[in-house]
Amino acid sequence: MDNISLVKTVQILPTQIAIAAFFAMGFVTTYYWLWRRALVTTPKGSRQYLARVELLLSGLGLTALLFWMGFVAPLSTNAMMFHNLGLYIVFFMLCDARINFGEYLVRAAAVLFVVAMHNFGNFDRWQGFVSLAAVLLIELVVYIFDRQVRNSTWGSTLLVVAMACSVWPFVPAVSASASLTVTPVTRVEAILLFVIMSYIGHRYWARQDRLATVSTEMTVQANYDALTNARSFSLFERDIAEMFTDSQANGTPLTVVMFDIDHFKAFNDHFGHPAGDAVLAGVVATVRKAIGEYLESDYLYRVGGEEFVALFPNMTVTQATRIARAMVHAVRATTFTYEAVELHVTLSMGVTAVRADDEQETDTYKRVDEFLYQSKHAGRDTITIEGHSERSDGQQENTGYRFFSQPIVDVSSDDHQLIARELLLRMRSADGARWLLPNTFDIDVDVQIALIRSVLVDAETQHLGLNLLPSQFVDFRVARALSTFVQSTPNFNLTIELTGVPDAENLTVLMGIYHDAGIRIAIDNVGSVNHYEAMVPLLKYVDVLKFSLQNLRRSHDTVNLDTRINFWKQVADDNGCLLMVTGVETRRDATHLRSRFGITVQEGYLYGKPRLALAK
Ligand code: GH3
Ligand code: MG
Ligand code: MG
Repeated sequence: MDNISLVKTVQILPTQIAIAAFFAMGFVTTYYWLWRRALVTTPKGSRQYLARVELLLSGLGLTALLFWMGFVAPLSTNAMMFHNLGLYIVFFMLCDARINFGEYLVRAAAVLFVVAMHNFGNFDRWQGFVSLAAVLLIELVVYIFDRQVRNSTWGSTLLVVAMACSVWPFVPAVSASASLTVTPVTRVEAILLFVIMSYIGHRYWARQDRLATVSTEMTVQANYDALTNARSFSLFERDIAEMFTDSQANGTPLTVVMFDIDHFKAFNDHFGHPAGDAVLAGVVATVRKAIGEYLESDYLYRVGGEEFVALFPNMTVTQATRIARAMVHAVRATTFTYEAVELHVTLSMGVTAVRADDEQETDTYKRVDEFLYQSKHAGRDTITIEGHSERSDGQQENTGYRFFSQPIVDVSSDDHQLIARELLLRMRSADGARWLLPNTFDIDVDVQIALIRSVLVDAETQHLGLNLLPSQFVDFRVARALSTFVQSTPNFNLTIELTGVPDAENLTVLMGIYHDAGIRIAIDNVGSVNHYEAMVPLLKYVDVLKFSLQNLRRSHDTVNLDTRINFWKQVADDNGCLLMVTGVETRRDATHLRSRFGITVQEGYLYGKPRLALAK
């Protein structure tokens, strides 16, 4: 062995190790955040695509630079160093978790290219082929074990040693193509450096990952209250500022609701602090559920011990008040239990909307706080809406009927369009906590009309579907009342959905009354509740046939269902009416109905569940 070269190597080894170690730390720290942005935090879409390309190009670009450096470096030991750094990066990238097959292939090709590059012009030697075959095998192992490679210390150490030993012993002593000269000492040195770098890189990766997890947990802790799971005060300050600015800039409404539990100190003193905690969590869950009956998402914040704020962007005071009352009623009606003790609480509440002359969100916030205290002074268990206080008990809405509504859409284009809403009658349960199917649908037409009016003012669509019993439908008072109502309400479209087949007597006269007012007639549940034979006398009058998938899905297989749908589509076509399908739950259902039968008017959970309808 060459003694001079050995002595020199020993002299510069500490420096080389230090350079390799710091390089690995620096590289992994930077690469981790690029990787995280590309493959963990950025949602799917063009931004993620760009981030993934950036990840790939930055890694490969750095590799290319290093090899170029090795190529032009005057000293052979330095050349080895640069080659080793480059090799380290491409191999590190190969082990990236979450990449797709294409991204893996690019990385695998880069590793092979680097190894082959050392052997260009020397492929008359067998060593080059052995080296390539060994590296190929390692790539296969990495592919099969996927993400576990980088997460396991043992696995990655073993793999790294294998990688270094598949490359460095086989590099030609003089590689003109790579401008590299290696002695036996350099080979050992290179393997040693590669393993050290990989070990440090591995530890650093794990460290970055821990930091990222802690940072995510801290974000959740800062943004959500641990006891109630409501959003935190710090998030509230940020959100209300943003929503306030949006509201003032776009002239869209923003309503702020603030509430506080009544006599909570006395409650704690009497039942104990843990019982108080349980009630706090229960109140939040109850309030959330109440909001959930109207809206997909809520903005509920715990702004003090037992003080909360709910924000309603894009909602007027009247709209938000509906929900606010529902929140108060729900809490009032709920029995919370803690260690078998039944507990009840009430809320005091303030409601206000952002006004044009509010300069900052604190102006709105101060006002809603004043309204909350006005509710307290008015005797608690009270809501104050823009300065007007009302007691929460004895309100009309606490009992009686309400309409829920479910969207009916047109799917002839890819983004389905809301064209109507079906009204669904519900009744508040005796304790006021839930909405139930009413015992009878036979309610007075004037009540129905009053309920429709409260829905109509808000509806995004002015087309509503109203279910009527056959007995209601054939009642002349109902026919006249509905006709007058529709005719005196501009832009309003009504479709009556008949839940059964009415008596044929007087049918022509009745149909005339409804049709003259522009009311359309549909028959509900064709093919399940309402059979063809019974329907024949009606077909010449009706405009829509409604086929319910949900009634048949359990008892019929797909082929059988298709035959039935086909039959009713034919009946609809023959009689010049529209066939619509309800109970659509999946995209597959939707596309099948559209492409197979040309049925584009659909209703079902896919497009929205029944929700309480709002008034302006
Ligand atoms: P008021 O009807 O005027 O609101 O009376 P109050 O007793 O509810 O009002 P006050 O603001 O004087 O008292 C609030 C009480 O809420 C004091 C405190 O014991 C209790 N509280 C605040 N945070 C928590 C909590 O996290 N858990 C429990 N159990 N109690 C809390
Ligand atoms: Mg209180
Ligand atoms: Mg308080």
